[in-house]
Amino acid sequence: MKYALVTGGSRGIGRAVCLQLADAGYPVLINYASNREAAEETQRQVEARGGKAELLPFNVASPEEVDKAIDDWSESHPDSYIAVLVNNAGIRRDAMMVFMQTEQWNEVINTNLNGFFYVTRRLLKYMLTKRFGRIINIVSLSGLKGLPGQTNYSATKAAVIGATKALAQEAGARKVTVNAVAPGFIATDMTKDMDENTLKTMIPIGRFGTPEEVASLVGFLASEQAAYITGEVISINGGLYT
Ligand code: NAP
Repeated sequence: MKYALVTGGSRGIGRAVCLQLADAGYPVLINYASNREAAEETQRQVEARGGKAELLPFNVASPEEVDKAIDDWSESHPDSYIAVLVNNAGIRRDAMMVFMQTEQWNEVINTNLNGFFYVTRRLLKYMLTKRFGRIINIVSLSGLKGLPGQTNYSATKAAVIGATKALAQEAGARKVTVNAVAPGFIATDMTKDMDENTLKTMIPIGRFGTPEEVASLVGFLASEQAAYITGEVISINGGLYT
């Protein structure tokens, strides 16, 4: 059976992606770092819609935790593999660079960039062997345009965009597609400290996006219909930046 794994599936965009992929028929593995209650709520919502979901907690920034969680899962599911990977887990630790602490830099690099590497490397071999896979990386407007106060975050998202394009070329012959989705401002916990009323005046569509709008794009990229799209970065930002 083909499963979908959503890193950071407990909240925000990740939760909406879990629901979308479950609606598309995938049993979903909900990864999270520490917020078990939120992950269980995602699981409840998937099951309420008739889908299947399992919790798969690990810290994406720890290669040991990633390997152990996936090894254990693979052992207990010998007839299944993870065919869809949504690299969504991410954090921001904003500061102007003159004030940025080494920990703020490293935490963001370890989660947003190294986490992408540890999880993708581990799952790629199954996808290549089975000759089908979908890898969707949630990047950001910040990685395309750069945003002040986010040199750490912008650097990670730009790096994942580069990796998306390189990996798409490595994996295409095995029918594994690799794409990136670059949201602008989306209403989640990550943006709750931002002033939507001021920021929305800069957005042509005039509001923040919803997690469900991002999830619907991810769902399309995960589908059979998107088999010929790879190495792309697709913005979803209400026209804020093109
Ligand atoms: P969010 O509401 O803050 O949720 C973050 C998710 O990531 C949570 O599920 C969290 O798990 C998980 N996570 C964080 N660190 C982790 C780690 N080390 N290991 C495993 N899971 C971890 O964020 P969001 O707004 O939905 O953002 C999701 C993605 O979209 C991120 O990559 C973000 O950079 C990107 N993005 C967001 C926006 C936006 O405006 N919201 C815009 C552009 C891009 P816990 O619940 O356990 O903490």
